[in-house]
Amino acid sequence: MTTVLQHWAGGAALKSTTERFGDVTDPATGQVTRQVVLATEADVEAVVGAAREAFPGWRDTSLARRTQILFAFRELLNARAGELAEIITAEHGKVLSDAAGEVARGQEVVEFACGIAHLLKGSATENASTSVDVHSIRQPLGVAGIISPFNFPAMVPMWFFPIAIAAGNTVVLKPSEKVPSAAQWLAELWREAGLPDGVFNVLHGDATAVDGLLTHPDVKSISFVGSTPIARHVYETGTAAGKRVQALGGAKNHAVVLPDADLDTAADQAVNAGFGSAGERCMAVSAVVAVGTAADPLVEKIAERARGLRTGDGRRGTDMGPLVTRAAQERVSGYVDAGEAAGARLVVDGRGVTPDADGDGFFVGPTLFDRVTTDMSIYTDEIFGPVLSVLRVETYDEAVALINANPYGNGTAIFTNDGGAARRFQHEVEVGMIGINVPVPVPTAYYSFGGWGSSLFGDTHAHGTEGVHFFTRGKVVTSRWVDPARRGGAGELDLGF
Ligand code: NAD
Repeated sequence: MTTVLQHWAGGAALKSTTERFGDVTDPATGQVTRQVVLATEADVEAVVGAAREAFPGWRDTSLARRTQILFAFRELLNARAGELAEIITAEHGKVLSDAAGEVARGQEVVEFACGIAHLLKGSATENASTSVDVHSIRQPLGVAGIISPFNFPAMVPMWFFPIAIAAGNTVVLKPSEKVPSAAQWLAELWREAGLPDGVFNVLHGDATAVDGLLTHPDVKSISFVGSTPIARHVYETGTAAGKRVQALGGAKNHAVVLPDADLDTAADQAVNAGFGSAGERCMAVSAVVAVGTAADPLVEKIAERARGLRTGDGRRGTDMGPLVTRAAQERVSGYVDAGEAAGARLVVDGRGVTPDADGDGFFVGPTLFDRVTTDMSIYTDEIFGPVLSVLRVETYDEAVALINANPYGNGTAIFTNDGGAARRFQHEVEVGMIGINVPVPVPTAYYSFGGWGSSLFGDTHAHGTEGVHFFTRGKVVTSRWVDPARRGGAGELDLGF
């Protein structure tokens, strides 16, 4: 008998009216471990209703109290981060150290949001005109919808909800139905931290849940992260319904390696960024662009390292875990077949890997292709698996042109010892997040996360000051107070308008 995970609304489990359920699997063993409800329209109404009812009370709760709850949440999360990492590994498959890293990156946003009192300060101008002062304030929106992908069950929701909540909004989180348990754990942690019921709610489901949020009149904003086609749909539907929307999409991230780079460092980083989390990261490097003489030694060094990685159950101290589902495993293997058929040189083949795991998990081992060209599907598509492609070019200019021609623009990196080349790269490349001698980095919480091109729809990136701006709206107040000394018989005031 598997347990069925229900929604969370108003500070307690909310039983769904659904007859549809999703299987949640442990990808390392292939076993179904629980089921999750897939929301009906009535469920959407009930969960959004709980968030709507909690909003006035939370909005009017003092900043001091809201901040105390944020700090309490941070302390609890610090103390119990390991539990959350285990939940992530059990449903996503990434190795435990990687899951712990994900929690730590989410925690950074909680810490950023602990400073909300400072972040919400407005500005004031005295005597804009005679006896007239002007000041600005920022206020919460209402119910904020957050829709997250399977690959970061904790970090991606935490890019948004700490700031949304700290700013006085209430939240409905719709996690990926493939990895629903982290959201439930976080909801219970909020309750323990003293968050009032109804401020943080979880709606489980698929397209019905998402479309319900996108069109619900009480949902004021949507923060979405997922694949590009769904991000586009979310942006178009949400904005048509009058909502504020930030929709982060897919990626194809390139790392350029110039001939003067430290090739051992570049190979280490290509392996970490290409095969970490089995390539299921929006900031994964999936294309290495080797310039000139860098190519031969670089391919050799990457291949040597890739062959040394241990693939298996993420709870066994392995280097790389499984893919999230059987379908993902089959899709990734299909791309490897297609790359081979298209004539790319398959240097390391991860199909048929023997993993360190029990049961029938969804494994593909590290895979390396050389001499990939821009017309091959292993280059044009986001594979979202442990498949690294090396493209060879002769010059730096060719490398930049190749990246700028790609429709995605999430992240990129350059490896070089030439500061001038790196400086030119950051100026010329049309991508939102750039690493110089580091693989594509997720910006720290007080900066904002977001790509260009098909990697982001909307104009506001996640977290940092852009996040605070997204979850609040501005008011400007112009006031006139007459000087008491001039009241009564002093005549008309000249306001100078
Ligand atoms: P996905 O687009 O399949 O799903 C994302 C969310 O949308 C899930 O909650 C899912 O339930 C929902 N959804 C799925 N199909 C839908 C539909 N037809 N209508 C409405 N909602 C739907 O993405 P995924 O497979 O869970 O995640 C992987 C993708 O996310 C990759 O493309 C990856 O690059 C991207 N991603 C991007 C970033 C970023 O910051 N840009 C970060 C993480 C992941």
